[in-house]
Amino acid sequence: MKRIQLVPRLVNKKDADPGLLVELQGLGRYYLFDLGANERISKHELLRTSHVFVSHTHIDHFVGFDRLLRHSLGERRDVHVFGPAGLLGNLEGKFAGYLWNLQEAGPTFVGHEIDGRTMRTRRYPGEHQFRGAELREEGLAADGAISTEEGVTVRCAALEHGITTLGYCVSTAPFPAIRSEALARLGLSEGPWLAELKSAALAGAAAGATLVACGREHSLPELVRELVEMKSGDRIAYVTDTLFNERTLESIAELARDATVLFCEANFRDEDVERAKATSHLTASQAARFAAAAGVEKLVLFHISRKYEGDFGPSFEQARAVFGAVE
Ligand SMILES: [Zn+2]
Ligand SMILES: [Zn+2]
Repeated sequence: MKRIQLVPRLVNKKDADPGLLVELQGLGRYYLFDLGANERISKHELLRTSHVFVSHTHIDHFVGFDRLLRHSLGERRDVHVFGPAGLLGNLEGKFAGYLWNLQEAGPTFVGHEIDGRTMRTRRYPGEHQFRGAELREEGLAADGAISTEEGVTVRCAALEHGITTLGYCVSTAPFPAIRSEALARLGLSEGPWLAELKSAALAGAAAGATLVACGREHSLPELVRELVEMKSGDRIAYVTDTLFNERTLESIAELARDATVLFCEANFRDEDVERAKATSHLTASQAARFAAAAGVEKLVLFHISRKYEGDFGPSFEQARAVFGAVE
């Protein structure tokens, strides 16, 4: 299996509409988290966005659906849109807002609404004027995954914003890496046989299996043991529009556990904590407490209130007093 690397990029400036575009390098596709204003995503990137994960449908998180729809018209492909309970109705509202007397070849939007441990799915094919097909309902997998493909998994956690919002974590499977010092120690040199060795490491090498490397036959399980180190894949968490409390702290600590990066809203500075509470948003140091509890490598703040007029310095300082690696 090809190794997929996740390359994230905030869609907008930190105080403009929230959104995160994650490139799935190796697949040539993108996952998009939230659908706020998204003119900074190129048409090329939108057309390669196969999955969209919406935290909730407040207008600053969903107004960009129209641009995705507009650019996708005529494309024969599926676009998956995930979100909390109510998402299917919001999608239907979007489709109902336009006239569709012309037959569109595509795309088909596939809405997935997560409600507790249940996922409701409905297809909206362009060739049927985006009228919803039959509703399917299924329980979530035991590990809470809502989407798994090509070794890329997305999980979600319910958060509290007066309404239920969803936080997400996208991760790639562990991958085999070759220990170059062991290669030298065993007197072996690089070659196509390493690809075979990596596949064996992933699939599990049977006892007694052998592999020819550099003109000699070797025990495959032994080579795997000596040469292969399993490294953890990428892990990116996206959390926005939630209250800080014991429940959300626990949920995010689990969702974003050991993430490479946690993208977390920090609407308010600490001195505005009452305003944060009243609007079910976070302060900078509350975002940092999420990062610390989850043990992430890096915290990136976004969705910072415009009232601070682009002065993000105090938010960074307040977050860094709790958690070191903040951008
Ligand atoms: Zn909101
Ligand atoms: Zn918001």
